[in-house]
Amino acid sequence: MALGIGWATGGLEYGYWWLTNATPPTVTLVAPPDVVRGSVQIGVRVGPSDRAGPVEAQVDGQPIEPSGALLVDTSTLPDGEHQVIVSAEDRSWRRNRASAMVSVRSDNTPPQLRLESRPERARAGSTWLLRVRPDEPAAIEAQLGGTPLAIQPGEGYGWAIVGFSPEAPATTLALVLAGADRLGNRAEQQLTLEVAADDAPVDAVDVSAALLPLLGPEIRAEEDRRLAPTYQRISQPRLWEGRFLMPVEGPLITEFGARRSYNGGPVVGAHAGADFAAPAGQPVLAPARGRVALIDEVRLRGRVVVLDHGLGVFTTYAHLSAVDVQPDQTVERGQPIAKVGSTGLSTGPHLHWELWVGGANVDPLEWTERELP
Ligand SMILES: [Zn+2]
Repeated sequence: MALGIGWATGGLEYGYWWLTNATPPTVTLVAPPDVVRGSVQIGVRVGPSDRAGPVEAQVDGQPIEPSGALLVDTSTLPDGEHQVIVSAEDRSWRRNRASAMVSVRSDNTPPQLRLESRPERARAGSTWLLRVRPDEPAAIEAQLGGTPLAIQPGEGYGWAIVGFSPEAPATTLALVLAGADRLGNRAEQQLTLEVAADDAPVDAVDVSAALLPLLGPEIRAEEDRRLAPTYQRISQPRLWEGRFLMPVEGPLITEFGARRSYNGGPVVGAHAGADFAAPAGQPVLAPARGRVALIDEVRLRGRVVVLDHGLGVFTTYAHLSAVDVQPDQTVERGQPIAKVGSTGLSTGPHLHWELWVGGANVDPLEWTERELP
């Protein structure tokens, strides 16, 4: 049959070739140079294309359907290197044969994600650190309570910090971690995070008659609304490095989160900062590198400075007698930025120090005790 067709379509020259040809065909295989996942196409070129074609193909010794564009499904194979062999044959009387081999490297395994959270349970009024360590380079994503977290690159891990306001109720939040390697193999884990309620003490404070008008809840709400937009801004990059310094030397007189009762009245909102007694005029030091985000004078906090440390982390210094920095100025860790005073709702010279993470008010002392991330 081949002879008959050959004579009919190729004429005399083809007949002579059919009878005498001893040159095997050429086979060229083209595989993707990089690691692949899923189905991959291998280009097969056989010459002379009008007189020869692929007749056999194998992947790791297993026969597959030969064709000019081999489709190899690597998802059914173990990860690693695979050998693809294609044999071609010409249509001459001798059926001359040749074959070629090419390697394909595949990876169809998603990364394994390890959660390293500190502390294991989150608590209202504190900072929670999430670290996700994949076993191979991977793009990490995370969602907490349905909200995506901005994951920062660490050395071999992705991380995020989350602040929980002191008045947040105890709750359990859904935590979804995902990681995709550069080929797109994606792993997802569904976890939960327990958030414990804050157990801060109640602090009795006596204030003079002159300060009583400042105790109305609407004054505090108005001041919080005025300062809130500053804490919502997220700037890049991270400016802090290592633990925070104490901004002032002096004894802690009111801890962060303390519920307060003024002049024997009802217990009102949590104390937004930590208070340190210090003489008026004592320098207040930047606890970490930052940029001056706000200088203001308000009714309760008095004269204030807010430092932006990047990634939504801010520190606030209140009741100051003097401010020694300019708006937008970059300050270094340990640099004096202001002086202790007693402006605003204050019964004597002290520093009121706040720390904000992503718009949530948290305990600043934690940042002096451990390194984040
Ligand atoms: Zn205070």
